[in-house]
Amino acid sequence: MTMMLVAIDEKKQHISLWNKRKEEIQQLKGLKFYCPVCYNQVILKSGSYKRAHFAHKSLNCSISSEGETAEHLEGKKLLIENLVRYGKTCELERYFPKSNQRADVFVSSLALEFQCSPLDENSYQKRTLDYQLKEQVTPIWLLGSRYFPANRKKWRNGEKRFFLFSKGLGSYYWILDTTKQQLGLVYHIEETFLTSHYQVKWWYLKKYSVYEIVTQVEQLKVTSCYHYRVRDELNSCYRYLSQSLNKKQVKVLKIQEYCYLKQGNLLNLPIICYLPIVRIPGEIGLIYYLRWLFLTTLQERKQVDMLESLHFLSLEYQKQTLFSLATNKQFIDEFGEYLTFLIDIQVIRQMNNRILFNAERYQYLLNKQVNDLLKEQLINKIQSSDLQRPNPLASMLL
Ligand SMILES: [Zn+2]
Repeated sequence: MTMMLVAIDEKKQHISLWNKRKEEIQQLKGLKFYCPVCYNQVILKSGSYKRAHFAHKSLNCSISSEGETAEHLEGKKLLIENLVRYGKTCELERYFPKSNQRADVFVSSLALEFQCSPLDENSYQKRTLDYQLKEQVTPIWLLGSRYFPANRKKWRNGEKRFFLFSKGLGSYYWILDTTKQQLGLVYHIEETFLTSHYQVKWWYLKKYSVYEIVTQVEQLKVTSCYHYRVRDELNSCYRYLSQSLNKKQVKVLKIQEYCYLKQGNLLNLPIICYLPIVRIPGEIGLIYYLRWLFLTTLQERKQVDMLESLHFLSLEYQKQTLFSLATNKQFIDEFGEYLTFLIDIQVIRQMNNRILFNAERYQYLLNKQVNDLLKEQLINKIQSSDLQRPNPLASMLL
């Protein structure tokens, strides 16, 4: 059922409900209203539970929207109210004909979408790309209460697909709390086998401009570090992989097959393929395999072009997953982090766009006798993640 806060009346005037008082809404009752998109008749509904809104008489609007809840109506009202208060030119429920979708609120080339219900991967991708490519608009997804992180141990794909990444904030996403009237930023999200970390920052909508916050967020910087029990993490990672293989989990088996083709074993790759333990969302075995693939290529060629390798690995990654471009962006960043790690432990050196391989150092790491001692050193070296470390890809991809 499509419900809206904006409709047109018989004189083709746009009537918006978000800023109307109860008496004004009463006066509108009995008049005829139409949907601005499909021109079918809509009815004005005002009850005590949901904010007053327009609802289609029949179900057949040409655009589908999420089954609107009290929360969604409330959120749209809070957003438009905030933008108007801070003097922004904005439009509630702006319709985009080229991509046939309606933005909850449109402001200066941003489409603010307040998402309260689940959104599957395909719809998310289609809507995001349509905004970007057909409308030259940037969608900003603000998520409702079902997406709040409260004591979350593992992130589900439902949230992960909305993750963004910035160097200063790490992985992050937006939430909107309509009850407390606050905009929230869940950031510095990191996940390992055993744990998940995140931080939340809130802005009270009566005091801060939503537009300023969402457009300036990438200037924020996190300086804190999380601490991990690396040895425990590594053990559970091996356990997870061997269990998945025993249970014949298709995805992991497939990656093991790829490893066999190159005379490797997913359970016995060089230790530096399993480190660092902090990882992006995605197929865990796949990430280790790609790291190993990269190292093997380096071993053969002694030096590689950085962007070329990135391209090659990212294609391999996409072949294996149906992850969105956003997730692919995280993959790119993961790869950059991995390069930083390899530079730290002196397996590679960076020279402009090229990566030079230190074969001696690598051989040393593969040596079984030094492996344990070295494992200890490596583990100590990366006890915690630090977002401020330079990522060699960052400057190249700008
Ligand atoms: Zn309609």
